[in-house]
Amino acid sequence: MTVSELSPALISPAMIDPFGRTINYLRVSVTDRCDLRCFYCMSEDMTFLPKADLLTLEELDRLCSTFIAKGVTKLRLTGGEPLVRRNVMSLVRSLSRHLKTGALHELTLTTNGSLLAKYAQELADCGVRRINVSMDTLDATKFRAITRWGDLNKVLEGIEAARAAGLAVKINAVALKGLNEDEIPELMQWAHGKDMALTLIEVMPMGDIGEGRIDQYVPLSLLRARLATRYTLTDLPDDTGGPARYVRVGETGGKLGFITPMTHNFCESCNRVRITCTGTIHTCLGHEDASDLRRPLRASPDNDLLNATIDRAIGLKPKGHDFIIDRRHNRPSVSRHMSVTGG
Ligand code: SAM
Repeated sequence: MTVSELSPALISPAMIDPFGRTINYLRVSVTDRCDLRCFYCMSEDMTFLPKADLLTLEELDRLCSTFIAKGVTKLRLTGGEPLVRRNVMSLVRSLSRHLKTGALHELTLTTNGSLLAKYAQELADCGVRRINVSMDTLDATKFRAITRWGDLNKVLEGIEAARAAGLAVKINAVALKGLNEDEIPELMQWAHGKDMALTLIEVMPMGDIGEGRIDQYVPLSLLRARLATRYTLTDLPDDTGGPARYVRVGETGGKLGFITPMTHNFCESCNRVRITCTGTIHTCLGHEDASDLRRPLRASPDNDLLNATIDRAIGLKPKGHDFIIDRRHNRPSVSRHMSVTGG
Protein backbone atom coordinates (compact mmCIF):
# COMPACT_ATOMS: atom_id res chain seq x y z
CA MET A 1 0.00 0.00 0.00
CA THR A 2 1.42 3.43 -0.90
CA VAL A 3 1.07 6.49 1.29
CA SER A 4 -1.49 7.98 -1.10
CA GLU A 5 -3.71 4.90 -0.63
CA LEU A 6 -3.80 5.31 3.14
CA SER A 7 -6.98 6.86 4.46
CA PRO A 8 -6.43 10.30 6.03
CA ALA A 9 -7.46 8.75 9.35
CA LEU A 10 -4.48 6.39 9.21
CA ILE A 11 -2.01 9.12 8.28
CA SER A 12 -3.20 11.58 10.91
CA PRO A 13 -5.73 10.23 13.39
CA ALA A 14 -8.17 12.99 14.25
CA MET A 15 -7.91 14.43 17.72
CA ILE A 16 -11.04 13.37 19.59
CA ASP A 17 -11.19 13.94 23.33
CA PRO A 18 -12.76 11.61 25.92
CA PHE A 19 -16.07 13.48 25.63
CA GLY A 20 -16.28 12.94 21.87
CA ARG A 21 -15.32 16.49 20.94
CA THR A 22 -13.22 16.75 17.77
CA ILE A 23 -10.35 19.20 18.17
CA ASN A 24 -9.83 21.14 14.96
CA TYR A 25 -9.05 24.64 16.25
CA LEU A 26 -5.65 25.66 17.60
CA ARG A 27 -4.83 28.98 19.23
CA VAL A 28 -1.15 29.76 19.57
CA SER A 29 0.31 32.47 21.74
CA VAL A 30 3.47 33.53 19.89
CA THR A 31 4.69 35.80 22.70
CA ASP A 32 3.61 36.67 26.24
CA ARG A 33 4.71 40.27 25.69
CA CYS A 34 2.36 43.08 24.83
CA ASP A 35 2.76 46.76 24.06
CA LEU A 36 -0.32 47.54 26.21
CA ARG A 37 -1.16 46.65 29.84
CA CYS A 38 -4.96 46.34 29.96
CA PHE A 39 -5.63 46.46 33.69
CA TYR A 40 -7.94 43.41 33.70
CA CYS A 41 -5.36 41.34 31.79
CA MET A 42 -1.98 42.20 33.29
CA SER A 43 -0.52 43.91 36.30
CA GLU A 44 1.43 47.08 35.51
CA ASP A 45 4.76 45.52 36.45
CA MET A 46 4.34 42.20 34.63
CA THR A 47 7.39 39.98 34.53
CA PHE A 48 7.75 38.52 31.08
CA LEU A 49 9.43 35.27 30.18
CA PRO A 50 13.11 35.30 29.32
CA LYS A 51 13.36 35.30 25.51
CA ALA A 52 15.43 32.09 25.67
CA ASP A 53 12.37 30.20 27.01
CA LEU A 54 10.30 30.96 23.94
CA LEU A 55 9.92 28.53 21.08
CA THR A 56 11.69 29.80 17.99
CA LEU A 57 9.54 30.73 15.01
CA GLU A 58 10.75 27.55 13.29
CA GLU A 59 9.67 25.47 16.30
CA LEU A 60 6.28 27.22 16.34
CA ASP A 61 5.91 26.42 12.66
CA ARG A 62 6.74 22.74 13.25
CA LEU A 63 4.35 22.52 16.17
CA CYS A 64 1.49 24.17 14.24
CA SER A 65 2.18 21.98 11.20
CA THR A 66 2.03 18.87 13.41
CA PHE A 67 -1.39 19.92 14.68
CA ILE A 68 -2.54 20.64 11.12
CA ALA A 69 -1.48 17.11 10.14
CA LYS A 70 -3.60 15.89 13.07
CA GLY A 71 -6.73 17.62 11.83
CA VAL A 72 -6.52 21.26 12.87
CA THR A 73 -8.22 23.33 10.17
CA LYS A 74 -8.37 26.67 11.95
CA LEU A 75 -5.32 28.36 13.42
CA ARG A 76 -5.36 31.61 15.37
CA LEU A 77 -2.18 33.44 16.37
CA THR A 78 -2.50 35.44 19.55
CA GLY A 79 -0.49 36.50 22.57
CA GLY A 80 0.48 38.73 24.42
CA GLU A 81 0.34 40.82 21.30
CA PRO A 82 1.24 38.63 18.32
CA LEU A 83 2.42 41.54 16.17
CA VAL A 84 5.13 42.55 18.66
CA ARG A 85 6.97 39.24 18.18
CA ARG A 86 10.03 39.96 16.06
CA ASN A 87 9.68 38.57 12.51
CA VAL A 88 6.21 37.21 13.24
CA MET A 89 5.32 37.78 9.59
CA SER A 90 7.83 35.12 8.56
CA LEU A 91 5.80 32.63 10.63
CA VAL A 92 2.54 33.83 9.08
CA ARG A 93 4.04 33.56 5.60
CA SER A 94 5.37 30.08 6.20
CA LEU A 95 2.12 28.81 7.79
CA SER A 96 0.17 30.15 4.83
CA ARG A 97 1.52 27.20 2.78
CA HIS A 98 -1.07 25.06 4.57
CA LEU A 99 -3.83 27.34 3.24
CA LYS A 100 -2.54 26.72 -0.27
CA THR A 101 -2.68 22.94 0.16
CA GLY A 102 -6.18 23.18 1.65
CA ALA A 103 -5.14 21.42 4.87
CA LEU A 104 -5.77 24.63 6.76
CA HIS A 105 -9.07 26.40 6.13
CA GLU A 106 -8.38 29.52 8.10
CA LEU A 107 -5.32 31.36 9.39
CA THR A 108 -6.23 34.30 11.56
CA LEU A 109 -5.11 36.40 14.47
CA THR A 110 -6.30 38.33 17.49
CA THR A 111 -4.58 41.66 17.95
CA ASN A 112 -4.89 44.88 19.90
CA GLY A 113 -4.54 46.66 16.55
CA SER A 114 -1.73 49.00 17.55
CA LEU A 115 0.61 47.64 14.85
CA LEU A 116 -2.02 46.69 12.31
CA ALA A 117 -1.44 49.71 10.08
CA LYS A 118 2.06 48.32 9.45
CA TYR A 119 1.09 44.68 8.87
CA ALA A 120 -2.48 44.61 7.52
CA GLN A 121 -1.60 44.39 3.83
CA GLU A 122 1.04 41.71 4.40
CA LEU A 123 -1.43 39.67 6.44
CA ALA A 124 -3.94 39.87 3.61
CA ASP A 125 -1.22 38.91 1.09
CA CYS A 126 -0.52 35.79 3.20
CA GLY A 127 -4.12 34.62 2.88
CA VAL A 128 -5.45 35.93 6.20
CA ARG A 129 -9.08 36.86 5.55
CA ARG A 130 -10.46 37.81 8.97
CA ILE A 131 -8.99 39.20 12.15
CA ASN A 132 -10.25 40.04 15.62
CA VAL A 133 -9.29 43.41 17.06
CA SER A 134 -9.65 43.93 20.81
CA MET A 135 -10.89 47.42 21.64
CA ASP A 136 -12.98 48.14 24.71
CA THR A 137 -13.91 51.79 24.16
CA LEU A 138 -14.07 54.59 21.58
CA ASP A 139 -13.12 57.17 24.17
CA ALA A 140 -9.40 57.99 23.95
CA THR A 141 -9.13 58.92 27.64
CA LYS A 142 -10.84 55.73 28.79
CA PHE A 143 -8.74 53.75 26.33
CA ARG A 144 -5.59 55.14 27.88
CA ALA A 145 -6.91 54.34 31.36
CA ILE A 146 -7.85 50.75 30.46
CA THR A 147 -4.62 49.99 28.58
CA ARG A 148 -2.50 52.13 30.96
CA TRP A 149 -0.83 54.03 28.07
CA GLY A 150 -2.39 53.00 24.74
CA ASP A 151 -3.16 55.41 21.89
CA LEU A 152 -6.66 54.81 20.54
CA ASN A 153 -5.84 56.56 17.26
CA LYS A 154 -3.25 53.95 16.39
CA VAL A 155 -5.84 51.22 16.82
CA LEU A 156 -8.40 53.09 14.73
CA GLU A 157 -5.79 53.59 11.99
CA GLY A 158 -4.95 49.89 12.20
CA ILE A 159 -8.60 48.94 11.79
CA GLU A 160 -8.94 51.19 8.74
CA ALA A 161 -5.77 49.71 7.23
CA ALA A 162 -7.14 46.20 7.76
CA ARG A 163 -10.45 47.09 6.11
CA ALA A 164 -8.62 48.77 3.22
CA ALA A 165 -6.59 45.57 2.77
CA GLY A 166 -9.86 43.64 2.46
CA LEU A 167 -9.71 41.92 5.86
CA ALA A 168 -12.99 41.30 7.65
CA VAL A 169 -12.62 42.78 11.13
CA LYS A 170 -14.49 41.70 14.25
CA ILE A 171 -14.24 43.92 17.30
CA ASN A 172 -13.91 42.23 20.70
CA ALA A 173 -14.70 44.26 23.79
CA VAL A 174 -14.49 43.12 27.40
CA ALA A 175 -17.48 44.44 29.35
CA LEU A 176 -16.16 46.40 32.32
CA LYS A 177 -18.29 47.52 35.20
CA GLY A 178 -18.57 51.31 35.45
CA LEU A 179 -16.13 51.81 32.56
CA ASN A 180 -17.58 50.88 29.19
CA GLU A 181 -20.89 49.26 30.13
CA ASP A 182 -22.84 52.40 29.22
CA GLU A 183 -20.96 52.82 25.97
CA ILE A 184 -21.91 49.46 24.45
CA PRO A 185 -24.73 50.84 22.22
CA GLU A 186 -22.36 53.49 20.81
CA LEU A 187 -19.58 50.95 20.25
CA MET A 188 -22.04 48.64 18.53
CA GLN A 189 -23.46 51.39 16.27
CA TRP A 190 -19.93 52.38 15.29
CA ALA A 191 -18.84 48.78 14.53
CA HIS A 192 -22.01 47.89 12.64
CA GLY A 193 -21.78 51.17 10.72
CA LYS A 194 -18.48 49.87 9.33
CA ASP A 195 -19.87 46.39 8.69
CA MET A 196 -17.89 44.88 11.57
CA ALA A 197 -19.35 42.43 14.07
CA LEU A 198 -18.95 43.25 17.75
CA THR A 199 -18.43 40.57 20.39
CA LEU A 200 -18.75 41.34 24.07
CA ILE A 201 -16.71 39.28 26.54
CA GLU A 202 -17.22 38.74 30.25
CA VAL A 203 -14.16 39.30 32.42
CA MET A 204 -12.62 35.96 33.33
CA PRO A 205 -10.73 35.41 36.58
CA MET A 206 -7.35 34.62 35.02
CA GLY A 207 -4.03 35.52 36.57
CA ASP A 208 -3.20 37.75 39.49
CA ILE A 209 -3.61 41.36 38.38
CA GLY A 210 -3.07 42.93 41.77
CA GLU A 211 -6.82 43.44 42.46
CA GLY A 212 -10.02 41.42 42.73
CA ARG A 213 -12.38 40.77 39.85
CA ILE A 214 -15.69 41.56 41.46
CA ASP A 215 -15.24 45.29 40.80
CA GLN A 216 -14.65 44.68 37.07
CA TYR A 217 -17.24 42.03 36.34
CA VAL A 218 -20.57 42.84 34.72
CA PRO A 219 -22.71 39.91 33.58
CA LEU A 220 -23.55 40.07 29.89
CA SER A 221 -27.07 38.85 30.67
CA LEU A 222 -27.58 42.30 32.21
CA LEU A 223 -26.11 44.17 29.23
CA ARG A 224 -28.14 42.07 26.82
CA ALA A 225 -31.34 42.87 28.73
CA ARG A 226 -30.50 46.58 28.60
CA LEU A 227 -29.80 46.42 24.84
CA ALA A 228 -33.06 44.56 24.28
CA THR A 229 -35.01 47.58 25.56
CA ARG A 230 -33.64 49.67 22.64
CA TYR A 231 -32.89 47.13 19.90
CA THR A 232 -34.49 44.08 18.34
CA LEU A 233 -32.15 41.16 19.01
CA THR A 234 -32.79 37.97 17.07
CA ASP A 235 -30.83 34.85 17.99
CA LEU A 236 -28.68 33.47 15.17
CA PRO A 237 -27.93 29.76 14.84
CA ASP A 238 -24.55 28.82 16.30
CA ASP A 239 -22.17 28.41 13.39
CA THR A 240 -18.77 28.65 15.11
CA GLY A 241 -18.76 25.73 17.55
CA GLY A 242 -17.20 28.29 19.87
CA PRO A 243 -18.24 30.12 23.00
CA ALA A 244 -19.84 33.12 21.29
CA ARG A 245 -23.60 33.28 20.89
CA TYR A 246 -24.69 35.75 18.22
CA VAL A 247 -27.75 37.88 17.60
CA ARG A 248 -28.74 40.00 14.61
CA VAL A 249 -29.54 43.57 15.63
CA GLY A 250 -32.64 44.62 13.67
CA GLU A 251 -31.97 48.36 13.75
CA THR A 252 -28.31 48.16 12.56
CA GLY A 253 -28.39 44.91 10.56
CA GLY A 254 -25.12 43.94 12.28
CA LYS A 255 -24.03 40.93 14.32
CA LEU A 256 -23.53 41.12 18.05
CA GLY A 257 -21.84 38.29 19.96
CA PHE A 258 -21.77 37.41 23.64
CA ILE A 259 -18.99 35.35 25.21
CA THR A 260 -20.33 34.41 28.60
CA PRO A 261 -18.04 31.98 30.40
CA MET A 262 -19.30 33.22 33.75
CA THR A 263 -23.06 33.14 33.16
CA HIS A 264 -23.25 30.24 30.69
CA ASN A 265 -21.12 27.23 30.26
CA PHE A 266 -19.99 26.79 26.66
CA CYS A 267 -17.86 23.70 27.08
CA GLU A 268 -19.96 20.98 25.45
CA SER A 269 -19.10 22.19 21.94
CA CYS A 270 -15.47 23.13 22.68
CA ASN A 271 -13.32 22.27 19.66
CA ARG A 272 -10.12 24.06 20.63
CA VAL A 273 -6.82 23.79 22.43
CA ARG A 274 -4.22 26.43 23.18
CA ILE A 275 -0.44 26.47 23.05
CA THR A 276 1.72 28.99 24.87
CA CYS A 277 4.85 30.56 23.43
CA THR A 278 6.93 28.11 25.48
CA GLY A 279 5.19 25.11 23.96
CA THR A 280 2.83 24.22 26.81
CA ILE A 281 -0.54 22.92 25.70
CA HIS A 282 -3.64 23.91 27.67
CA THR A 283 -6.68 21.95 26.62
CA CYS A 284 -9.05 24.19 28.62
CA LEU A 285 -8.85 27.97 29.08
CA GLY A 286 -10.43 27.73 32.51
CA HIS A 287 -8.44 24.86 34.01
CA GLU A 288 -4.94 24.43 35.40
CA ASP A 289 -4.30 21.47 33.07
CA ALA A 290 -1.03 21.68 31.13
CA SER A 291 1.34 19.41 29.19
CA ASP A 292 4.78 20.30 27.93
CA LEU A 293 5.30 19.90 24.19
CA ARG A 294 8.65 21.70 24.04
CA ARG A 295 10.62 18.76 25.41
CA PRO A 296 9.26 16.18 22.95
CA LEU A 297 9.54 18.77 20.17
CA ARG A 298 13.22 19.29 20.90
CA ALA A 299 13.98 15.65 21.77
CA SER A 300 13.83 14.39 18.22
CA PRO A 301 13.53 15.73 14.68
CA ASP A 302 10.80 13.21 13.94
CA ASN A 303 7.34 13.74 15.39
CA ASP A 304 6.56 10.36 17.01
CA LEU A 305 7.12 11.46 20.60
CA LEU A 306 5.46 14.81 19.92
CA ASN A 307 2.37 13.14 18.43
CA ALA A 308 2.14 10.76 21.39
CA THR A 309 2.41 13.65 23.86
CA ILE A 310 -0.28 15.61 22.01
CA ASP A 311 -2.57 12.55 22.01
CA ARG A 312 -2.04 12.10 25.75
CA ALA A 313 -2.85 15.79 26.39
CA ILE A 314 -6.04 15.61 24.29
CA GLY A 315 -6.99 12.53 26.30
CA LEU A 316 -6.90 14.69 29.44
CA LYS A 317 -9.07 17.55 28.14
CA PRO A 318 -11.46 18.41 30.99
CA LYS A 319 -15.20 18.35 30.51
CA GLY A 320 -15.64 21.98 31.54
CA HIS A 321 -14.02 25.03 33.03
CA ASP A 322 -13.59 26.11 36.64
CA PHE A 323 -14.39 29.83 36.51
CA ILE A 324 -16.23 31.42 39.44
CA ILE A 325 -16.41 35.10 40.43
CA ASP A 326 -18.31 36.04 43.56
CA ARG A 327 -17.55 37.66 46.89
CA ARG A 328 -16.14 34.40 48.29
CA HIS A 329 -14.17 33.66 45.10
CA ASN A 330 -12.49 36.96 44.33
CA ARG A 331 -9.13 35.40 43.52
CA PRO A 332 -8.00 34.00 40.14
CA SER A 333 -9.68 30.67 39.32
CA VAL A 334 -6.76 30.03 36.99
CA SER A 335 -3.31 31.29 37.92
CA ARG A 336 -2.15 31.93 34.32
CA HIS A 337 -2.73 35.35 32.81
CA MET A 338 -4.73 35.49 29.59
CA SER A 339 -1.61 36.91 27.92
CA VAL A 340 0.24 33.66 28.67
CA THR A 341 -2.46 31.29 27.52
CA GLY A 342 -3.44 33.35 24.51
CA GLY A 343 -6.93 34.83 24.65
N1 SAM B 1 -3.06 41.31 22.33
C1 SAM B 1 -4.10 40.65 21.64
C2 SAM B 1 -5.40 41.37 21.83
O1 SAM B 1 -5.43 42.42 22.49
O2 SAM B 1 -6.40 40.91 21.31
C3 SAM B 1 -4.26 39.18 21.93
C4 SAM B 1 -4.17 38.71 23.33
S1 SAM B 1 -5.38 39.33 24.45
C5 SAM B 1 -4.92 38.45 25.91
C6 SAM B 1 -6.83 38.51 23.87
C7 SAM B 1 -8.14 38.96 24.43
O3 SAM B 1 -8.24 38.57 25.77
C8 SAM B 1 -8.38 40.46 24.40
O4 SAM B 1 -9.64 40.69 23.79
C9 SAM B 1 -8.43 40.83 25.85
O5 SAM B 1 -9.29 41.92 26.06
C10 SAM B 1 -8.96 39.57 26.45
N2 SAM B 1 -8.70 39.40 27.89
C11 SAM B 1 -7.54 39.53 28.55
N3 SAM B 1 -7.69 39.24 29.86
C12 SAM B 1 -8.99 38.91 30.03
C13 SAM B 1 -9.79 38.49 31.14
N4 SAM B 1 -9.26 38.36 32.35
N5 SAM B 1 -11.09 38.23 30.92
C14 SAM B 1 -11.65 38.35 29.70
N6 SAM B 1 -10.95 38.71 28.60
C15 SAM B 1 -9.65 38.99 28.77
